Amino acid sequence: MTPTALKQQIPSSPAYVFDRDIMLSALQKIDLIRRQSGCKVLYSIKSLPLTQVLQWLLPYVDGFSVSSLFEARLADEILAGQGSLHLTTPGVRPDEAAELTRLCSHISCNSLNQYRLFSGLETQCAAIGVRLNPALSFLTDERFDPCRPFSKLGIPLAELEAARTIAPIRGLHFHTVFSALDFEPLIRTLAIIRTQLGEKFTQIEWLNLGGGYLYNQIADTDAFVESVRSLKAEFDLDVFIEPGKAIVGEAGYLLTTVIDCITNDGKNIAVLDTSVNHHPEVFEYQMSPTLHEHRPNGRHSAILAGSTCLAGDIFGEYRFDDPLKMGDKLLFKQVGAYSLVKANRFNGYNLPDIYALEAGRPTLLKNYRYQDYRGQW
Ligand SMILES: *Cc1c(COP(=O)(O)O)cnc(C)c1O
Repeated sequence: MTPTALKQQIPSSPAYVFDRDIMLSALQKIDLIRRQSGCKVLYSIKSLPLTQVLQWLLPYVDGFSVSSLFEARLADEILAGQGSLHLTTPGVRPDEAAELTRLCSHISCNSLNQYRLFSGLETQCAAIGVRLNPALSFLTDERFDPCRPFSKLGIPLAELEAARTIAPIRGLHFHTVFSALDFEPLIRTLAIIRTQLGEKFTQIEWLNLGGGYLYNQIADTDAFVESVRSLKAEFDLDVFIEPGKAIVGEAGYLLTTVIDCITNDGKNIAVLDTSVNHHPEVFEYQMSPTLHEHRPNGRHSAILAGSTCLAGDIFGEYRFDDPLKMGDKLLFKQVGAYSLVKANRFNGYNLPDIYALEAGRPTLLKNYRYQDYRGQW
């Protein structure tokens, strides 16, 4: 469905709209490298764990990857034994470990303590591996860099080389980038791990290369395909990737309505019936989401502001052919990942409705009410 048709057919505002066709076309691109390289694809559910989305993706992925007990329970329920379930997280509570190994097929321990905890369990169902920290940084913003100094994420290579583990480590995992648009970090990281781990590397049964790459948008995939093929040929192991944003990022819209127009210091400000709390990464990363109505050379400009008390609750300044007026509908695009899952009711503003778009037909999945807000408090 075109954005214009979508704006006409979705009857409520604000609303998230998740488009199945866009998700499946992202998956098709990922499926190409999956078939060429032989890697397996897990959907990292933390970016959008909506059960409708998990159901849509289920036939096209080899499983799910999760970061907590609740995500593991949800993924297990949807998978119903039909695929792999991988877990990695710094936050394993001792009282959850037994259930986690029953639910998950693979666990990448974030520390040697976790490794001892899981390997020491009496009944052990999951294949236990470790998350490595290759200490190779590719990001300038430390807040999103798993390889930052003093990182809590993964076991440093040197520590793992020196470690004597009770049982052989069955698999390795690393995840070191954020929305990367080429595979160079992956190739360099693999090279370092292979040389440094030597013997230990030859013993593993599986390797999880993480998410963080926009696998659907990377045109030159030859180096990736080659690396995975040679790893599989040389070491006879299963190779996994676990994209989140690459699968759902482009498939989500946030539909909103202008509810007030003001001017201050000579600029137009349009107040929306949504806020950055419905897409918190706008504030976290100080980025402006793509707006369908934006015209780079439009004669009119307006700052799009959210409806909460926070002065910095602003989506950004956009340009338009015509001046915005109250009642205008606007559509933020490519906000499928990390929006709904991080959304909150700050200031008591309701969460947006949620629609699923399938074969051009919208279905209302959720409509939150005062009772939901009341129940929370
Ligand atoms: C967040 C995360 C992912 C998914 O990341 P995307 O950027 O959404 O692809 C995959 N693996 C791990 C370990 C993660 O923390």
